[in-house]
Amino acid sequence: MAKKKDNGLHCSFCGRGEYEVSLLLPGIEGCICDECAERANEVAKEYLAKANHAMMEDIDMATLPKPNEIKEFLDQYVIGQETAKRYLSVAVYNHYKRLAQHNDGNDDGVDIEKSNIIIVGPTGTGKTLLAKTIAKMLKVPFAIVDATVLTEAGYVGEDIESLLTRLLAACDYNVEEAQRGIVFIDEIDKIARKGDNPSITRDVSGEGVQQGLLKLLEGSVVNVPPQGGRKHPEQKMIAVDTKNILFICGGAFEGIERKIAQRLNTHVVGYGAGNHISRLDREKLLHFVAPQDLRSYGLIPEIIGRLPILTNLEPLDRDALRRILTEPKNAIIKQYHKLLEMDGVELVIDDEVLDYVVDKSIEFKLGARGLRSIFETIMIDVMYQVPASGEKQFRLTRDYAAQQLEKSNFEMLAQAQ
Ligand code: ADP
Repeated sequence: MAKKKDNGLHCSFCGRGEYEVSLLLPGIEGCICDECAERANEVAKEYLAKANHAMMEDIDMATLPKPNEIKEFLDQYVIGQETAKRYLSVAVYNHYKRLAQHNDGNDDGVDIEKSNIIIVGPTGTGKTLLAKTIAKMLKVPFAIVDATVLTEAGYVGEDIESLLTRLLAACDYNVEEAQRGIVFIDEIDKIARKGDNPSITRDVSGEGVQQGLLKLLEGSVVNVPPQGGRKHPEQKMIAVDTKNILFICGGAFEGIERKIAQRLNTHVVGYGAGNHISRLDREKLLHFVAPQDLRSYGLIPEIIGRLPILTNLEPLDRDALRRILTEPKNAIIKQYHKLLEMDGVELVIDDEVLDYVVDKSIEFKLGARGLRSIFETIMIDVMYQVPASGEKQFRLTRDYAAQQLEKSNFEMLAQAQ
């Protein structure tokens, strides 16, 4: 590349000419070079992190949302799941209380301990949605991590401590902030012990991982690899104390109904009351989930002991699915109205279409996740054609929806997944 000449343009911060830097960005009053811009970015980040930290220092109970307000917020996004929402709202509120407990200088010797939570519920019923929604309103750092990537040290996968890497990243590696954060561990059921005898087949992602996780849940100082993944000697570790970190775990625990049924059955039979279980809707069995069932499923008792709040999510019935289509703040139907509105097109949807989408999602066993993909499939041609057609309105009828879905071979595609 030809050597640049001095053209009189200079960085207003470091004074170097355009010919001396890689890039000079012009502003209204002067210019800034790439290096100064980068430095300014770093300074701004540090400043914001400090300001943020100062804000979090004193959690002021008076301004915090109360459990009912937290739940009302969740209600805007998550349909149903009343019990889980209440548990979560209280847990988050108590988490704040625990952080605020010594702010007033009054040390009465009563230490509010944390109560980690475990949510059991079929896949696609809102576990992650609940976690993400709560994160929107939190005043502490929050991270969602997946337990499936964790394996015992020495095996392919990630160290348990890497769970905290995400939390650190969520607050720009400010350790003090991370130490008051909340971690949502998804798919906790995947680290359940696979068999009763771990010595026969190595259980690299089972009990060993649970033992490691236990350390984090109990509260201890752990060394966290800043980049996640595996710890290795060259990497500088960050020491994080997990004493005040709240852990919320979620898992589908597929088949746990059988353990619940077994337990209830023996109990009922033991009291000579006859077999009630057959009369209980299998799906409703989750209501009765108890710590013993998690144990039968393969979680070690110590872990269960560290997750004292156990709640469940309901399977979503037809009515819930119908509401999910239209009611949440960012419901898929609302999104489509907005998408077309931006092209100046009014979308009118016949009521029967909503029932049809719900029916198909149930028929294909796709649950809430299927609603979006079915609706998107139905709308693809409209989204393609209408913006250029000059029409001011599009009416979506059941017949059109059915025709679109059939044409797309959606059923076959969905089954192939
Ligand atoms: P999981 O329980 O497997 O974590 P998700 O929370 O990821 O399920 O749910 C998948 C999708 O289904 C969400 O993104 C959301 O669109 C929808 N969904 C599931 N449950 C609900 C619910 N209770 N209310 C509103 N939307 C829901």
